[in-house]
Amino acid sequence: MYKKVTIKPQREASLQRFHPWIFSGSIHSVEKGTKNGDAVILINVKGEKLAVGHYFEGSIAVRVLSFDGDQSIEGILKDKLEKAYSYRQQLGLVDNTNTNLYRLIHAEGDGLPGLIIDIYGHTAVIQCHTLGMYQHLSSIEEVLVGLYGSGIHIFDKSSDLISEAKEKNYIRGSYQRENWVENGYQFDIDWEKGQKTGFFIDQRNNRKALQAYCRGKKVMNLFSYSGGFSIYAQAAGAAKVVSVDASANANEICKRNFQLNFNAEHEAITADALDYMKDMSQEFDVIILDPPAFAKHLSAKHKAIQAYKRINLQAMRHIQKGGILFTFSCSQVIDALTFRDTVVAAGIESGRTIRIVQQLSQPEDHPINLFHPESNYLKGLVLHVE
Ligand code: SAH
Repeated sequence: MYKKVTIKPQREASLQRFHPWIFSGSIHSVEKGTKNGDAVILINVKGEKLAVGHYFEGSIAVRVLSFDGDQSIEGILKDKLEKAYSYRQQLGLVDNTNTNLYRLIHAEGDGLPGLIIDIYGHTAVIQCHTLGMYQHLSSIEEVLVGLYGSGIHIFDKSSDLISEAKEKNYIRGSYQRENWVENGYQFDIDWEKGQKTGFFIDQRNNRKALQAYCRGKKVMNLFSYSGGFSIYAQAAGAAKVVSVDASANANEICKRNFQLNFNAEHEAITADALDYMKDMSQEFDVIILDPPAFAKHLSAKHKAIQAYKRINLQAMRHIQKGGILFTFSCSQVIDALTFRDTVVAAGIESGRTIRIVQQLSQPEDHPINLFHPESNYLKGLVLHVE
């Protein structure tokens, strides 16, 4: 049976609030022989079973998978994967020919800390963020085959995050190019060489929201990756669309995506976004700022806030009168209020009159666990800049 981890008295409150993280300071003792990645049962000093999770020595010592101390990890995985699948079915994302890219498992948002699964047509790309989850890959595979059938391709990309993981590899099948579409727009996706799981599914609704502002406008997409926002802007009738990303590889994919959708060339510039903005012409009516997570850890929060302020200030300084700025933060440690305060600070310094016209978040296949506010990681503001 699983090893036991005992919680200090008076430290059970977070479990009673269903928060899935147990910090090391709340731990009374860890059973001898418990290794990193082991599945453990959390008990109180009276010996009562409280929860089941994965152990890892560090600040977050246990990530809870079930608040029922009697469930097996295999049972939990099957149950939660099936529930996540049926919820995506309810959303109309399964077997949808207009959008065949969606997130099946959004870690804590689907009750499975440490696990991300993105679906690209007939391929599932898995990223385990914890060693514990990685050790259950074969159980995860079994459930996925049960849900999608034996034809599913499964690619494991956990080695980006876990040193113990095998180099990126196919658990089933191989790279299979197919017609990947989001809201009818085509995207080429390369999970082997691309960032994260290959595509930023989380911006689907926000790309759609952008279209309302693009007709006849000049659009600058900064941190453009494979051109998601650019494609939507072009399709919505923009007069001009330019993409800027520091990655030449991302820009290649971006250009390919323009060919796929419009059979047209696209201006995708390889540059640092902040440097680029400093000399940018002021012709752009719509600017998108979707940087990578500037703060991956709490310790980087202060620096990240400065970085968000700098890029927002430059965008505000350079946008056309009456322009629209889409600005995002995907840093988990920067909450919505902090992000907004940072944008306010940039706004004050810019000296321009600015209104928030829309507040954006992550889509419905990236659910936010009510008891884990940190899973609300994507924050966006649409600003009207006079
Ligand atoms: N908006 C994109 C996702 C952006 S992800 C979409 O809808 O798909 C963040 C992107 O920022 C990555 O493509 C990364 O290559 C790029 N990036 C990281 N640092 C950068 C920098 N300093 N300047 C420009 N781009 C950068």
